[in-house]
Amino acid sequence: MSERHPMLYPELLAPFDTKAIVRDGRRLDHAEGAAKPLRSRPEPQPRGAKVHGNRPIDQAEAAARFIAAPEHEKMHDERLWDLRQKRDREMHGITEWEELRSLASAIKEHTLTHLDQYLEQFEANARSNGINVHWARDAAEHNQIVHGILSDHGAKSLIKSKSMLTEECGFRHYMASVGIEVIETDLGERIQQLDNEDPSHVVVPAVHKLRTDVAEVFARTIGTDPANSDVHYLAEAQREATRPLILAADAGMTGCNFAVAETGSFVVCTNEGNADLSANVPQLHIASIGIEKIIPRLEHLAVFVRLLSRSALGSPVTQYTSHFRGPREGGEMHIVLVDNGRSERLGMEEFWTSLKCIRCGACMNTCPVYRRSGGLSYGATYSGPIGLIIDPTFNQRKYSNLPFASTLNGSCSNVCPVKINIHEQIYAWRRVLVERHETPLAKRVEMKAAGELLSRPAAYRAAIAAADVALAHLPRWVIYNGLNAWGRHREVPHPPKETFHSWYQANRGEQQ
Ligand code: SF4
Repeated sequence: MSERHPMLYPELLAPFDTKAIVRDGRRLDHAEGAAKPLRSRPEPQPRGAKVHGNRPIDQAEAAARFIAAPEHEKMHDERLWDLRQKRDREMHGITEWEELRSLASAIKEHTLTHLDQYLEQFEANARSNGINVHWARDAAEHNQIVHGILSDHGAKSLIKSKSMLTEECGFRHYMASVGIEVIETDLGERIQQLDNEDPSHVVVPAVHKLRTDVAEVFARTIGTDPANSDVHYLAEAQREATRPLILAADAGMTGCNFAVAETGSFVVCTNEGNADLSANVPQLHIASIGIEKIIPRLEHLAVFVRLLSRSALGSPVTQYTSHFRGPREGGEMHIVLVDNGRSERLGMEEFWTSLKCIRCGACMNTCPVYRRSGGLSYGATYSGPIGLIIDPTFNQRKYSNLPFASTLNGSCSNVCPVKINIHEQIYAWRRVLVERHETPLAKRVEMKAAGELLSRPAAYRAAIAAADVALAHLPRWVIYNGLNAWGRHREVPHPPKETFHSWYQANRGEQQ
């Protein structure tokens, strides 16, 4: 960066800081002295799935590109597995963990089955707190309502904290089309915004990026030194570039983690305090709230707050758990309650409990497919196991391949703090999509043939024996060709000398 932005509050500099690094008689700003050079040729960042209108997303193709970038794949896998292990350590520290999960699940199921009552109660209490409440049927209506509020105030810039709902609504793109500048205040989300990418994880949006990727993005967009990928330097540079925009913004926007019906208040959990900046710096605060975020009473909040951060990041609590109950003095507060397909999902017998999700990301952190393929390979707002359930509710054709991107090992269901039977719902989607002919013809034919074979033991054994002989003797090109999707990315396993069935017949058959 040629010219560093002056420190916003120089009076906060401690003049007698004995640990300050001084170079050429000048005290270095935070992290300047810790600068580390980039390697000469960093591995390029793999990009996400190619999206072509309504055409089915080819998650396997995008995942293959991610796997082909070994530094990214290794870092992603290890970083997320680290979160999973931290989550386990926190879980073991709480003896009533399973009771908390059951309670959280029961509260959510109760609320979802009485959603109309609790939404009305929330609206009435929010209004009596001085909040303006709006209802949006879908993403388009949400965007228009927010645009209307901003236009009424002549607002031209908006600071915003991370919100998956606004991602779902394509909010940033819409605001750009109407000439309103949106500035993300969450660091990871801001990185993604500057790189013109969607978030790849519900909690850590830029988790798929190496620090060299971030250095490249910041050098391109805010003029940092491209040879410096020190994380403190990058974070400080971003802070200095964004703070003036935050202080000058006309309006602020937040999402919501929990909306409490009995008080008409809502809660936003962050680790950077950025929601508090978005809500409190400008006079106008708008909150976008999905209708499934309602909980009945304030006492229920404790159950979810204890589960959320432990499940998400393996930390006991988020740094900030901010309660918003009404507009600040002289200010104005608006809430937009958004449906966008949730009512329809509530009516889906096999999938309605996915609305219990509190967006902790634990199912993503534990999923072997997600960890190795990166969130952007799903080509959808929601990725990982919960995404495989939610995305097809928006568009069955486009997301028809996603429920197949799972090993169905059930680890996602085991870690879910609200006890969603995630792997069973993924399996149910496969059946629904095949029945509705939303899967490719070749896959349907293969599945039908496999079904026939598996239902006839004699034919199955004959096929296995034939396959063993073929694998042992056929030339490699016959096995590894375009028709063998399995062999495209890995070696076909060597056939065992003896199958379990033949071993059992030989050794235990007589005892039957
Ligand atoms: S489905 Fe469960 S584990 Fe996954 S993000 Fe939602 S609450 Fe967390």
